[in-house]
Parts: sequence; structure tokens; C-alpha cells
Amino acid sequence: MKLILLGPPGAGKGTQAAKIAERYSLAHISTGDMLRAEIASETPLGKEAKAIIDRGELVPDEIIIGMVANRIKQPDCVNGFLLDGFPRTIAQAESLLGFSEIDRAVCISIPDEMIIDRMAKRRVCPACKRTYSVEPGSRWEQFFCTECGARLITRDDDKPETVRHRLEVYAEQTYPLVEFFRSRDMLSEVDGTGTVDEVAGNIFRLFEGE
Ligand code: AMP
Repeated sequence: MKLILLGPPGAGKGTQAAKIAERYSLAHISTGDMLRAEIASETPLGKEAKAIIDRGELVPDEIIIGMVANRIKQPDCVNGFLLDGFPRTIAQAESLLGFSEIDRAVCISIPDEMIIDRMAKRRVCPACKRTYSVEPGSRWEQFFCTECGARLITRDDDKPETVRHRLEVYAEQTYPLVEFFRSRDMLSEVDGTGTVDEVAGNIFRLFEGE
């Protein structure tokens, strides 16, 4: 199965992508994680990407398209893959459909107020990339990853002013993909407002029926 996971920042794409990838033995390809790995390794691409990501903007199409085109040629993708955070523009989507078959694009929808709230609470493990939600006012510095023990951090691009800009960028550049895939009869929409397990259940039902 070759899947795309769409949705605004904070919709739970990363969390759901990990669950879907595990259940259906798909390679989980997160362009955000790939870029953060480049940043951590201080590669030239990482240095260029950091400034763009910290502003809440999108990395240029040609860079991202090249990254994904190479990634899906890797052996772990032969049984299928799940794209998390790609495509984010119509140009990326058109290019993707030119170099790969895609079975379905699943869009996780949540209202804007919930996005802002979720992003304010989001913490991530810098080591294993798991995401967590913490309550405001709690001393998040005390929280450590339950999987690997690393200290959780707030992503630089989850700061409120950057989140607002990311939402504008999403509305302008990424939301049009919903219509793009709908018009090709490739879109499934899922309500993302429930708990992690409820949303995962909604997604699994798309593939497995009631
Ligand atoms: P994410 O972890 O998916 O929220 O991605 C974090 C940031 O990485 C985004 O806000 C963008 O700046 C950049 N990024 C990730 N995927 C893409 C993409 N497909 N196209 C352009 N920029 C991307």
C-alpha cells in the first residue's frame, strides 16, 4: 500500500503515521523528520532548511521532491510506504504522481482552535521522535520520553507566532491538495478530533471496513 497522510500541523499526522505504518508494515517517511535529521547533522541542506523551518515556511519543492524520490527507492519501501508531511504543495503532488503510484490520500481534519491548543501542548523526544502532549503550567522539563528516556523538547517551530504562520502557509499552499486528491477520487477524510486510539480506529476502518 502506498499512502499519503494529509492534514494541518497538529492534526496528529506523526502519531497516526507511526500507528498506520506499524499495522500495515509500511515504511514511515516523514519529510519533517528527514529535515530535522539534516539539521542535527549540520549538513548544508540542514543549515538551509533550519532557517526556513524556524520561520514556519516551506522548504523549496525541488529539494523535498528529490529527497522523497530517493527515499522511496530504498529497499524498505518495496512493501509500501506512508508519506507523512509530503506532498505539501500542488507542485509536489503532481511530481509525486509522476514518479510513484499512490493508492490513497488520507486527510485528518481538526478545527483551527484545536490545532493551536495541541501545538501549545506538544513536546517531542529529540532521540526517538515520539510526540507527547503536556498540560500548560506543568513543568515539562521534568518529563522524559517513556520509550528512550531522553528529555522532551518543544520544537522551535511550535512557538505560537510560528504556528500562526504555519497555519497560513497550510491554508494557502497545502489545503488545496484536499481538492486535488478528491477530484482524482483518491481522498478519504477522517475526523481527527478524538483520542489517538479513536482516530486510529477511524483510519483503520477505511482499509478494513466496519
Ligand atoms: P513537519 O514535521 O511535517 O511539521 O515539518 C516541519 C517543517 O519542515 C515544515 O513546517 C516545513 O518547513 C518543512 N517541511 C516538511 N515537509 C515539507 C514538505 N513536503 N515541503 C516543504 N517543506 C516541508
